[in-house]
Amino acid sequence: MSNPSKLASLQSLLQEKNDEIERLREQLAGNEAASEFKQELHQTLSRAVNIGYWEWDEIANKSAYFSEEMAAIMGMSLESLYEQYQCEEDYFRFVHTDDLQRYIDNLGAILHPDHPRGSAHKFHYRIIRPNGEVRHLLELEYGKQVEDGVITRTYGAIQDITDIEESTRLLEESEQRYSALFSKLPLGVMEQDWSEIKMRVDRLRSEGVDDFIEYFQQNPLVLKELAGTIIISSVNDRLMEIYGAGSIDDFIDSEEDTSDWWDDEWANLYASEIAGLAGSEKISFSEATETRMDGSEFYVRLITSLVKGDEDSWQRILTIIEDVTERKKYEVDLIEARNIAEEASKAKTEFLSNMSHELRTPLNAILGFSQLFEYDMSLGEQRQSRARAINNAGKHLLNLIDEILDLSRVEAGNIELSMEPVRLGPVIKASVSWVAEMAKGRGISIEFDPGVYSGVMVEADAGRLKQVFLNLLSNAVKYNCENGKISIDYQLDEQGIARISITDTGIGISPDQLDDLFKPFNRLGAEFMGIEGTGIGLVITKRLVELMQGELKVDSKPGQGSTFTVQFQTIQGYRDGIEVSNAAEVEIDSSVINRPDILVAEDNLANQVLMEAQLEALGYSADFADDGLEALELWKTGNYQLLLTDIRMPKMNGNELIRQIRVEELSTAPIPIIAVTANAMESDTKQCLEAGANDVLSKPFTLEALKQMLEKWSPLQGKSV
Ligand code: ADP
Repeated sequence: MSNPSKLASLQSLLQEKNDEIERLREQLAGNEAASEFKQELHQTLSRAVNIGYWEWDEIANKSAYFSEEMAAIMGMSLESLYEQYQCEEDYFRFVHTDDLQRYIDNLGAILHPDHPRGSAHKFHYRIIRPNGEVRHLLELEYGKQVEDGVITRTYGAIQDITDIEESTRLLEESEQRYSALFSKLPLGVMEQDWSEIKMRVDRLRSEGVDDFIEYFQQNPLVLKELAGTIIISSVNDRLMEIYGAGSIDDFIDSEEDTSDWWDDEWANLYASEIAGLAGSEKISFSEATETRMDGSEFYVRLITSLVKGDEDSWQRILTIIEDVTERKKYEVDLIEARNIAEEASKAKTEFLSNMSHELRTPLNAILGFSQLFEYDMSLGEQRQSRARAINNAGKHLLNLIDEILDLSRVEAGNIELSMEPVRLGPVIKASVSWVAEMAKGRGISIEFDPGVYSGVMVEADAGRLKQVFLNLLSNAVKYNCENGKISIDYQLDEQGIARISITDTGIGISPDQLDDLFKPFNRLGAEFMGIEGTGIGLVITKRLVELMQGELKVDSKPGQGSTFTVQFQTIQGYRDGIEVSNAAEVEIDSSVINRPDILVAEDNLANQVLMEAQLEALGYSADFADDGLEALELWKTGNYQLLLTDIRMPKMNGNELIRQIRVEELSTAPIPIIAVTANAMESDTKQCLEAGANDVLSKPFTLEALKQMLEKWSPLQGKSV
């Protein structure tokens, strides 16, 4: 041992060994770290995908290894798993009884000589966790082979696939429901594969096409070709019934060859279906004429949509087809009936307009002459009072004609309103003064304070608004008791809604009669009380109020009286200068000198005589022509300063006369032309004004109205008057 070189070599050997030990130690530490990492990775992944591992000693029939995750899947701690699962049979108690036999049958499979060595055996069963929860497991088993071919160990994994199973079950259920609906629906249903179309749609989109309807209109052949790529996947029984097809194949055959049925209607339909499915709604509604297998035509309504989940592939396009032939027939009948009704209504309006003209023309003479007699002092008191009676009866008749005409307009919905800001006070005041005489005759007092309406304006047609109040006020007089009372109250609420209530102390209306109050011609028994009326006024009144955006309400107590309330939204602010003409009584003044030379065109002799007398009473004189043509000739020769012309005349009508004069006088100063017409429709008035008339005077007219009109248009007005 004293040999120093031997000692040195031993020392170096020792050093070498120490180094090696150190290296191995480092390597071991590295391996341990790698193994730890692997184990951690293994556990994390196992947990993430719900996989547990096991190993089984087949010789000893006992567990060799269970992973933590396996215990977690089984719903217990690892210790408890080891404790409860010691031999193979122990596991049976965890398996769901319905699946136990299947589990047992699969158990031995890995050990069977026919099972290919090295490959896994896979099966599925349910377990019941100790807390009663049922879980679906997928088991994978491998066998470890020893040299003589005997399997001594098995190992494998269980995966908890409950979530996957659950969603598969839900999917199956929904598929079953879908199939049940598909086959049982009382509508035709067809499922088709449109994947070729979808691919083309995507391509077109990438090329910048976004309006598919427009694109297919410009490329009809592309559309036809695409329609030919559609594959019918299935159809239900009802669909075959609708088409009269014996079998699905028959039906598919008939659809397959596009050239058999392709036309413009189908091209439009397919274009709109594709556009509908490509749009955000992913649905298309359409109607089309279809052909049954026997060649007969019928009408269908189609709803085309995507089966959920197939939005990207369009592999399942569902079309619901409803045979709407019957409904279509009703629609056509209905349209026809509506056209007939509209025709009839037009004919009625025309008839009423004609009738109104025919009645107004003689009435003009009756009212005009009777009014002249009223003013003719030489006739004596008795004759004057008879003339007044004729005039009153005539006015009543005129009122009736106006109401019937208004009703027909209301029913046809062609009342023309000229809406403007109107001051409420003057309108009500004028209406009150209109009925004052009538009320006085029955000893009825009217309580009305015009002061409260100061500055109150509503958006309305002034003339129609007055008609509303006149009707309500005259009813309040008519259906009042002798010496009764009428009060007109006014309220303005915070929202600026004005309520005008007209309350009478009359007979009232019973609750069951209220339902019929606004029905035309229904007089609720007033016809037996000797009270004049037609039962139309309130229908028109209500409609007019509504057309002017207002409301009409009634409140009544039989035997005590009624309150009719009209409400309108008021207008903020005040516009000066807008006044509603107050139909002021006009005194007849015949002292005016320098009257213009007037030409009158009028074919009706009685009206000619009347006009002459009326003009004379007002201090005017005129020349008369019997028709438009004669008037034109006279106008050319004479030096007339004003023309009053009837419209319906033989040879040349008034509008034509006006037009001709307006053309001829282009180089000279135009004369004022007043159309005097018995046509009471707004459209007639419009026509006159369009022809070139300055104003329109409706027949029959009062002496006062004629006076105002002449003064308004007299070229000398303001100079000598
Ligand atoms: P008319 O007065 O011409 O009969 P309306 O249409 O104005 O027609 O009224 C219809 C019916 O409503 C009247 O016949 C009457 O029976 C009833 N009526 C209207 N206003 C009143 C009222 N103020 N008081 C009681 N009954 C009324």
